[in-house]
Amino acid sequence: MNLIENDQGCTWINQLPARSCIQTVSKNEDCDWLIVGAGYTGLSAARKLSQLHPKKKIILVDAQLAGEGASGRNSGYLVDTTLNDGFTSNKELSNYKNKTDIYQLGIDVLKKFIKEYQVSCDWNNSGKFFASSKYADKIILQKFSETLSKLGFEHNLLSKDELTERLGTSFYSIGLYTKGGILLNPGKLVRAMIDVLPNNVILYENSTLLKWKNTKNIIYCKFKDATIITKKIIFCTNGFLKSLGIKINYNFPLTLTASMTRPLNENEFKSIKEPREWGVLPVKPMGATVRMTKDRRILIRNTAEVYKPFKMSAVELKKRSTNHIIGIKKRFPTLPEDIIESSWSGIVSRTRNGSQIFDKINDNIYVAGCYNGSGIGVGTLFGEQIAIKASGETSSEINVIDARQKPTWLPPQPFLSIGIKARLIYERLKANTET
Ligand SMILES: Cc1cc2nc3c(=O)[nH]c(=O)nc-3n(C[C@H](O)[C@H](O)[C@H](O)COP(=O)(O)OP(=O)(O)OC[C@H]3O[C@@H](n4cnc5c(N)ncnc54)[C@H](O)[C@@H]3O)c2cc1C
Repeated sequence: MNLIENDQGCTWINQLPARSCIQTVSKNEDCDWLIVGAGYTGLSAARKLSQLHPKKKIILVDAQLAGEGASGRNSGYLVDTTLNDGFTSNKELSNYKNKTDIYQLGIDVLKKFIKEYQVSCDWNNSGKFFASSKYADKIILQKFSETLSKLGFEHNLLSKDELTERLGTSFYSIGLYTKGGILLNPGKLVRAMIDVLPNNVILYENSTLLKWKNTKNIIYCKFKDATIITKKIIFCTNGFLKSLGIKINYNFPLTLTASMTRPLNENEFKSIKEPREWGVLPVKPMGATVRMTKDRRILIRNTAEVYKPFKMSAVELKKRSTNHIIGIKKRFPTLPEDIIESSWSGIVSRTRNGSQIFDKINDNIYVAGCYNGSGIGVGTLFGEQIAIKASGETSSEINVIDARQKPTWLPPQPFLSIGIKARLIYERLKANTET
């Protein structure tokens, strides 16, 4: 088992009040349900299971502090659409429609959660931009625009001047704005999910599931100091599914790194024309995600790589952080170089064809994950729905999820690593100006 431990460098998490009364797995125990992984997926699964089975004993475990994996350290785009070039046939269009139907269900479930529990997570219906510094990428955006029009998504193409005015940087030459995306604070969102965990959910943190085995429909789960025996288990470990032996031929982890500046001061903010909060996603997959936050910080994420072990060393993180400064300076040359407040890494899960995992592995073993970098809404949705599925029930949401294209098979090692690395290098070269 690789080390699962976060750096302490994420502003979203560091801004939250410290939590107390952290419990760890310290004695042998039995339970009805064990959920492994306390990010959006596991927390939502626990919340839903508790509603469905108020009298049952439910345990939720995480290897680190709950919510401090990818769920608390992402870029905060709750997406309605993602840019997928090459939708040329009707079949591909229907696959893309199903994908956006799932995104919409993810947005709906989060809206409901936020309303029900009065959550404040800096939710902003600001929409989002896809933008590129290369005018030639207009072809990709025009094609994307046709797809969006066919599916009825409100959007418009933007010129360099329009982008400069809206974003406060003249870096981008061409862009497309979609109205439906939401920007939020991921740390506040996941903390709210922890805070509202119901009483019949026991949360154990800093407790890594080391080994598990299923014998005669009873699952034995080994932790450092004790064993939990459970009737049913739901794996919600996303980028760590493979390391627990789950769906190993269908998913692989990727490490992303991001940095956030301190809030810009008055002069700095004026120098970039005081833009309203915005979020830009790249046109090329390996380009940078850049956000101007509500409190005038700039967030940038411009790396995605195969990285082992899971925990990135301070030296390696510093190298990525230097890359982030270059990305910021390209867009905002007037800003100083020492403006970055925090840098962090996080693990996501990928499948070959970009489809998610939502499966019954056995009568008593279930899994949800692999959101390919778009897991805020979908993770929350899949968490709730996997709890429903594991309880032997169904829902209209499950019908939509089950209609998606299923993840495709990945080749074994060493071919997988060679293939992924070659693909990442190719994508990086294609996106070289956009990082
Ligand atoms: C830098 C970055 C930017 C991103 N930007 C966006 C974005 O803008 N929009 C978006 O929608 N998504 C984004 N994502 C992806 C999004 O964060 C994930 O899809 C989402 O958090 C997945 O939630 P999850 O609960 O399934 O997994 P996670 O949040 O990864 O939770 C899984 C948990 O499982 C625990 N775990 C793993 N192994 C074990 C074990 N053996 N025992 C016990 N516990 C274990 C981990 O500690 C972890 O807390 C981004 C991710 C990163 C890293």
